[in-house]
Amino acid sequence: MQNRTLFVGGRIVLPDRVTDGSLLVEDGKITGVLSKGAEGRISDCQVIDVTGKVLLPGLVDTHVHMWDPSPMNYREDWYHGTACAASGGITTVVDMPLSVPPVTDEKGFSLKLDVADKNAFVDFAFWGGLTPSCVENMKRLHELGCVAYKGFMSFANPDYPQITDGHLIRGMREAAKFGGLIGVHAENAEAADFGSREMDACHCTDEAMHDEARPWWVELEAIQRAVLFSEANHGRLYICHMTIAEGAEFLKRQKSMGADVAVETCPHYLLFDKTILREKKAYAKCNPPIRSRENVEKLWNYVFDGTIDTIGSDHGPYSDEEKVVHGDFWKEYCGFGGYDAMLPGLLTEGVHKRGLSLPRLAALTAGNAARIMGLAGKGSLMPGADADIVVVDLKERWHYDGAKSFSKTKSVKGIYQDMEFVGRVKSCYVRGNMVYDGERIVGTPGWGNYVPGSFN
Ligand SMILES: [Zn+2]
Repeated sequence: MQNRTLFVGGRIVLPDRVTDGSLLVEDGKITGVLSKGAEGRISDCQVIDVTGKVLLPGLVDTHVHMWDPSPMNYREDWYHGTACAASGGITTVVDMPLSVPPVTDEKGFSLKLDVADKNAFVDFAFWGGLTPSCVENMKRLHELGCVAYKGFMSFANPDYPQITDGHLIRGMREAAKFGGLIGVHAENAEAADFGSREMDACHCTDEAMHDEARPWWVELEAIQRAVLFSEANHGRLYICHMTIAEGAEFLKRQKSMGADVAVETCPHYLLFDKTILREKKAYAKCNPPIRSRENVEKLWNYVFDGTIDTIGSDHGPYSDEEKVVHGDFWKEYCGFGGYDAMLPGLLTEGVHKRGLSLPRLAALTAGNAARIMGLAGKGSLMPGADADIVVVDLKERWHYDGAKSFSKTKSVKGIYQDMEFVGRVKSCYVRGNMVYDGERIVGTPGWGNYVPGSFN
């Protein structure tokens, strides 16, 4: 007998509409969307009653830092990180290449695949590296299924150096040969670095000034440069964690003129303004910085009008102790975790507060990412897709508590701590198998599969 499951009584979010009915899953794939009342025709199956709940396609998170393999895997690893993902409705994690060793060659790729394959509760795909020394490896990484290549236009770290302009252009030309996607952290390196140093030198005590240290024009300049280079070299470009209205306006214009560029932002740029840094200090410090309230509201317009294609979490936790290790805000690490708050945060601030439609939310968090990164079978609840399903209670009110998170760091100082959300993940399925039941992880480590990009 086939392994058949019928989700009955829910509201199913499809790419173009929300429908009341049932979802039929067979052998890990969605095989039917049945109209209300038609479920009686299906026999011989397990029935899951999801009355009153919403069924969304499992999230495809485009921007994750798992820290594993790496000596820093006490911050996050594949076991805890993908358990945390499942509890947040994320069924495919697209991991950044900055592990140790990084995914800049086949060896780095194989080491990560090995660790992820043994430990992951949810499916996963890999970014490959774009550093000055690995441009000639990109073709091989492409053959291995990497979905995109990440370069830092800003200064990064000694293990993962900045991609200076000449090497960036080399990388774009190389990727163009096989249709590869180049993703950039777009900030002008020297301008951002000088600004941050100046704030430190003058002993600035206002953490919200992180925005002034690396202002909008530092980001805009890098976005414009990347688009120019990419267009001139016939590339495909992805702007990671875009934060500014000026950048969105520029990208909107470029896209309308046919530029092959996709735009990602993160939940924290839509949920918080820079005053959160006064409250949370380095726990809210990230690059590019969290911007003004005026900018936050403008950014939402570009979420609604389609300029912004994807929302990725940039989940990359540090331990609570590490975030104060220097005793000087301007020197502390940048970045934080909390992607189990992403979907609840977007439901609260997007769907409930601003009227974002559920199909548009699904496109931003799943469908567009699957299309742009070539993840076949992901990001949709249409028949033929993998049965990656998040069951959501749209109305449930709750408070986020990092101590209860499945993340390895369990930070209780993070930006989402004690935040009230409206909307909660009640269960999460990966290829038809329940991984999270609303309270506990019920899946098996190793159930997660590698999803290679399918551009070939
Ligand atoms: Zn990142």
